Parts: sequence; C-alpha cells; structure tokens
Amino acid sequence: MTTALLVLAGLGFAALLYAGRGYWAWVSALGLVLAAWGQAGVQSPTAFMTTAVAAVIAALVFGVPALRRPLISAPVMGLVRSFLPSIGDTERIALEAGTVWWDGDLFSGNPDWRKLLDFTPQALSERERAFLDGPVEDLCRMLDDWQVNQDRDLSPEVWDFLKRQRFFGMIVPEEYGGLGFSAIGHSAVVVKISSRSVTAAVTVMVPNSLGPAELLLHYGTDEQKKYYLPRLARGEEVPCFALTEPHAGSDAASTRSSGVVCRGTYEGRQVLGIRLNWNKRYITLAPVATVIGLAFRMFDPDGLLGGEEDLGITCALIPRDVPGINIGDRHDPMGVPFQNGPITGTDVFVPVDFVIGGQDGVGQGWKMLMDSLAAGRSISLPSLSVAAVELAARATGAYATVREQFNLPIGRFEGVEEALTRIAGHAYLMNAARVLTCAAVDAGEKPAVLSAVVKAYLTEGMRKSVIDAMDIMAGAAICSGPRNILSRVYVSAPIGITVEGANILTRSLIIFGQGSIRCHPFVHDEMQAVADNDLRGFDMAFFGHVGFVFSNAIRSLALALTGGRLAPVPPGGPMAGYFRALTRYSAAFALITDVALATLGGALKRREKISGRLADALAWLYLASATLKRFHDDGRPAGDVALLRWSCDLALWNIQEALRGVVDNLPNRPAAAMARFLVFPLGAHRRPPADELGAEVARCLLDGNEARLRLSADIYVPDATEDGLGRLDAALDLIVGAKDGFAKVTDAVRAGTLEREPRDTLIDRAAAQGVINGEERNRLDAAEAARDDVIQVDSFDPETYTGLKG
Ligand SMILES: Cc1cc2nc3c(=O)[nH]c(=O)nc-3n(C[C@H](O)[C@H](O)[C@H](O)COP(=O)(O)OP(=O)(O)OC[C@H]3O[C@@H](n4cnc5c(N)ncnc54)[C@H](O)[C@@H]3O)c2cc1C
Repeated sequence: MTTALLVLAGLGFAALLYAGRGYWAWVSALGLVLAAWGQAGVQSPTAFMTTAVAAVIAALVFGVPALRRPLISAPVMGLVRSFLPSIGDTERIALEAGTVWWDGDLFSGNPDWRKLLDFTPQALSERERAFLDGPVEDLCRMLDDWQVNQDRDLSPEVWDFLKRQRFFGMIVPEEYGGLGFSAIGHSAVVVKISSRSVTAAVTVMVPNSLGPAELLLHYGTDEQKKYYLPRLARGEEVPCFALTEPHAGSDAASTRSSGVVCRGTYEGRQVLGIRLNWNKRYITLAPVATVIGLAFRMFDPDGLLGGEEDLGITCALIPRDVPGINIGDRHDPMGVPFQNGPITGTDVFVPVDFVIGGQDGVGQGWKMLMDSLAAGRSISLPSLSVAAVELAARATGAYATVREQFNLPIGRFEGVEEALTRIAGHAYLMNAARVLTCAAVDAGEKPAVLSAVVKAYLTEGMRKSVIDAMDIMAGAAICSGPRNILSRVYVSAPIGITVEGANILTRSLIIFGQGSIRCHPFVHDEMQAVADNDLRGFDMAFFGHVGFVFSNAIRSLALALTGGRLAPVPPGGPMAGYFRALTRYSAAFALITDVALATLGGALKRREKISGRLADALAWLYLASATLKRFHDDGRPAGDVALLRWSCDLALWNIQEALRGVVDNLPNRPAAAMARFLVFPLGAHRRPPADELGAEVARCLLDGNEARLRLSADIYVPDATEDGLGRLDAALDLIVGAKDGFAKVTDAVRAGTLEREPRDTLIDRAAAQGVINGEERNRLDAAEAARDDVIQVDSFDPETYTGLKG
C-alpha cells in the first residue's frame, strides 16, 4: 500500500516537473521523503517522529518565502555573487542590448511551435517590388564586375545612379526623402546586387547598416535629422562609420581615440567643442566619405560640461573637410575594390553639437552602437551570404549538367553530387534564416542574439558553399576573367567572416554569452537582483530557476526516451517529427546550459570551446526552426520535402554533436555524467543526412529541374548573351531541350548500333544513320555549340595580362 502510494507520488512528482511546475514538484518532493521515512517509521516510531519533524521543518523553510529568504536565499545570493564573472560597463551594455524573440523560446526548453507558425512575416510592398524590378534590375545591368575590378572602383555612372535612385537611403524614412524600406525589402535589394557585384553590394550595404543614418534615426536631435537624413538619402553625403583601430579591433570598446572638451573656434565662431585625435583603419567608404561617423572616448578635464572627467564612448558626425583629417588612402581587401581605408585625425576641433544626440548623447555611444547593431547585422551580411549560395546553386546546378567528363555530366558522379547537395541544402536553409530574421526586425524586434547567429552561421555557410562551388567548377572557377562568376565571391568570403564581429569571437563569446544572459528565463533576473542587492527578487528568480532545471531534467530524459513523442506539437506532416526532435533538443540545450553555468560559473566566459559548442546548438536550433517555418509558409510544397528533411537532419546532427561535445568536455565529471544520462540515456544515435536523401537534394539542381530556379529566385540573372551566368543558363536550356536526341544517340551507342566516338563526329554519324532526325540534329548541334562555349575560360595576350589588375 505504502509502496503504491510512493510510486503514485513519484509519478506525480515527475508530471509536475514535466509540466514546468518544477518548484512545486521540488517542494512536494519533501512530501515524498516524509512518506518514505514514514514507511520506515512503522518499524521505529521514534525514527518516524524525527524524520517527520525534520521534513516539516524543511518544507516550511523551503515553502514559506519569509523563512526561505533569510535562511536559504541570502547565503545562496552571496555564493552566486562570488561566482559571477566581473562585468564591466561596456560588456554589460553589450550583454543587455536588443530584444529576445524566438531565441527565448529555444532557451526555454519548450518552444511554442504554434506561435512560430502563426507569426506572419511582412511581405514585400508594391513599392519595394517595383524598386527591385526597376532600379535594382537596371543597376545590375549596368554593373560589369570584371570591369569594376579592373577600374578598381565602380564607374562614375554607377555611383551617380546609386545616389540618384536613393540606394543609400533605404533605411531613411520617406518623410526625410529616403526609401523607407522594410528589413525584407532592404535585404532583397542587397541579395540581388550582391549576386552581381560584391563591390557594389558593400557600397550599398554600408550606408544602410550601422552608421550615421541608423544612429541619427534613433538618437539624433531634430536638427541633426533634418540636416543630415535628406542629404544622406539623396547621396549628397556619403557616410562611413569609424570604430576600428589598430589596437581596438574585436575589442572595439578599448578605443584609444579621444575627444577632449574645450573652447575653440569653428568656422569663425567661438564655441564649446571637442578636440579629437584618432587613428582608425579598415573603414568602408572612408576614401570617398563626406561625413565620418566617429566613435571615441570623450573627456572633460576642465568640467566644462559639468560632469565627470571620463565621459565614456561617444559618437559624433564629423564633416570630412574639417582641418586635421587625413583621409583618402585605400586598403585593398582581398582585391575586391570597394572603397575602404584608414582615417586619422589630429587635433580636429568640432562643436559639441556634432555629438549624435547633442549633449544628451555624450557618453552614450556604446549603448547606441549595441542597441542599433541588431538591425544591420540581421540584414547586410546574411543577405550577401544568401546571394552567394543562391548564385553557387544556380551556377553549379547548370554547370554540373552541362559539363561532361568520362562521357557523363559531372553531376552524375557521387563525389560531385555530395558537394551539390550541400550547396542546395544551404541555399534552402540559409534563405529561410534570412527571411525569418528580417521578419523579426520588421515586427519591431532588435534580435541581438539571433542577428549574431545569422551573421556568423550564414557567412560560414556562404564560405563552405562557395568552396564547394569552386571545387565543382574547378578550372572554370579558378581562371579569372569576365566569364568567371565565382572567383570574386570566393575571395570576398573572408571579408564577411571578419566584419561586423569576427566569426570566432561571435561564435565563441557573443552568441552564447549574450544568449545565456539575455534569453535565459532566469539568469538575467538573478544577476540583476545580485547587482541591486535585491533579496526578494533573487529569491523569486533563483527558486524559479531551480524549478526550471528540474523540469528540463525530467523533460530531457522523458523526451529522449520517447523520441520526443511526449512533446505536444502542431500537426505538421513531414514536419511533425522535427518539431518533436527539436523540442527534445531544446530541453536538452536548456538543461546543459544550466549545468555549464552552475559548474563553471564565471569561468564559462573563458571556456570558449564549451560556449562555442553551446552557440552551435542554439544556432542550429534556430536554423532548423527557420527551415520549418519556411516550409510551412511556402504552403508545404511536396517538391521541397527533401530539402526540408536534409536541412533538419543536418541541424539535428549538428545539435547532437554540439551537446555531446559539451558533455564530453565539461570539467565537472559527475555533473557531466548526470547530464549525459538525462540527455542521451540511450546514446547519441542521430546521424548526418543519409546519402539517398542527399542525392534527392542534389537532383533539385540538376537537369534543368525547376527547383534550381526556386532555390535561386532572389538573385540577378543576366540575359542569355552575357558571358558567365547568362550564357550558362542558356546553354543548360539548350542541352535540356535536346535531351531526347541525346538519349537516342546514347541508346544507339549502348546497343552497338553506333560506335563510341567523340561527340561532334558521333552526332554526324547518328544523323547519317537515321538515329536522329533533322530537327533533333539541329537541337543537338546548338546544344553542343553552347556547351563548347560555356566551358571555355578567359585568356589574355601577354601585354593585356601584365596590365590586368586584381
Ligand atoms: C574589409 C573590411 C571592412 C571593414 N569595415 C569597417 C568599417 O566600416 N568600420 C569599422 O569600424 N570597422 C570596419 N572593419 C573592421 C572589422 O569590424 C574588424 O576587422 C573586426 O572587428 C575584427 O578586428 P581585427 O581585424 O582587428 O581582428 P582582431 O580583433 O585582431 O581579431 C583576430 C581574431 O581573434 C579573434 N578574437 C578576438 N578576440 C576574441 C575573443 N575574446 N574570443 C575569441 N576570439 C577572439 C577574432 O574573432 C579574430 O578571429 C572592417 C574590416 C575589414 C577587413
């Protein structure tokens, strides 16, 4: 009888934990202890009384807040205080920046899939569509990337067109004369231009990303907005934003640039101003900029502003022609000729009014930068990365069908197929993540953590996919010239990896570091309570946290044992299994996050191999979520099931390996053993996407399959007469159109009716022997001529060659 009660109580305890009522489960566990010892007490009434009293006292201490706070929470709070890493002001601002969105669900261990599916992304407006079909198409037609590279700059016509059509004012609202585009509209423009010319894309991206316009919009005074925003929108001002220095790269807050408050003369007027000295490098658009957004540390040694001496990081807008500025030299980033260079300033004097936000903005620079980072980081490099992978998908799909070796299109070889699979899969999942993240920005979010995820993982996906594409196109991708469409994308991949937060830093330090504080349901409240010495707040957060850990522990175990079947997920056809698996891994991720936080505490900040793996798990949870959302929003097309499955299988494999890596390497081995038991009770059995599935995915790109067009729908495709992608696409059409004729010739060779010989004479003989008719022969001739054309590469006479640049 007592045993039955105990089993029932145990089940109730587990159910409470599973339902997320961890704290109550935990308190009721004391009841269990009472019952268990009560059973023992049947034999020994004294033992029963002692344990009953102990359990009642414990229940009171833990269950009554007025007792719990001083007796339990206060000492724990002291312990946590000693445990917490020291966090400086700039770090704290960075950690707390932005908003929490789907990342919060993933950290909760119990993502609400219905909420994700019901979320409606903002669609492109009529005006945005018209801009894409009009000025953006026109711009792409004007751009000759090979020539841009030779000229080491965009042509004057292109510069003029960009300014006139307000490409530099996509984020500036219409009331200030800008285009006022949504995030998805802005991103669509960047994708299309990037697929045509990285130089042009970077030129357009920078004024629309973190810089003068973005900062003015949120923090500028009315006067600053009225003066600068229309001029920026019309391209009358070309902005750059200067943060990086020789000694302040990733650690940008350690800037040595200084501004000292003093009185001086500006344009003949005596004003209160700032005397600036700086040495910046790597600044995009600097050589041609007319206004410099400058980040520096501001000091007021004479107390002219009436506050402290060290006022902190500040951002100001400095016109280029103020005396003391040295600007115009160029760096050469991988030979990609967008404008980029150093700027120095020596005793540059400007009025205090030039600080963004005026005097109110003094010392607010770091906060402004961190709060505004998410929008641009969600858009610029993710869009450029998607353009690269879509271009890779479109080009390699065509090339692997057109190019033959060993008498077969190279796409038929499994080795090539593997690379094609990765390109197609990444094109699908990366675009899904781009669209979802833009949708979050359009919904008003500032997704600090997710923008770091898409920045790091999409640029990495781009690098991998472009390397795959280079391998497939081999010599044709290596020899530079107007026909080569991949080499410039290939050399620019490291630029995307490095800028806007270099990827190693972003993965190892920022994503999980910021996520675990910003997105975790309790950690931020706990830290805040410790900082404010708020015992009541700490007590609530801490015991909420304890319940959360217990709940995730039991859920991880239960979901692992049942293959996620206990997770309530929306009906989803081919998606349902993935919802369940991801719910399981979300619970596991949340649990392992807490185990790592609890056992490593402040040391976790230095254990970047652990936090990097946790970042991988979070990132792939997000990428898989985005893929499911895309499949759902696209109307669950049967033609995309293989792409969905491949993307999700890859994501789940990566999540498993990341979590396994954490468990394998956690220094506290008993805690690691417990985590392993709860997360992988039956072992880690998930495998990467199967070969068969990969073959299905690769076929999306081959033989003129229409999925190739869908996977590359966002890029610019030149007309059929243009070297490079235009002619390659046209050749593919001709070869696919001649497939019946090719099949007849191949069948005849197999049957021995035709002798095997080179293709040109083979077609002659096939026509002569009546294997193909006249019309088929014409098609085969045209297809062969096109094939012969598109496999050629450029060569240059010695004189031209020695004059080539880049
Ligand atoms: C082409 C180009 C354009 C740019 N445009 C601009 C611009 O317009 N404005 C501007 O202000 N800046 C710009 N930058 C600067 C860019 O943002 C920096 O290059 C970047 O922040 C990295 O700084 P760094 O190159 O000095 O590398 P470093 O800071 O020296 O880093 C070197 C390596 O160490 C890693 N690392 C550093 N710290 C850590 C850590 N704590 N944990 C783990 N890994 C770490 C980094 O990830 C990187 O892999 C540009 C750079 C380039 C190359």
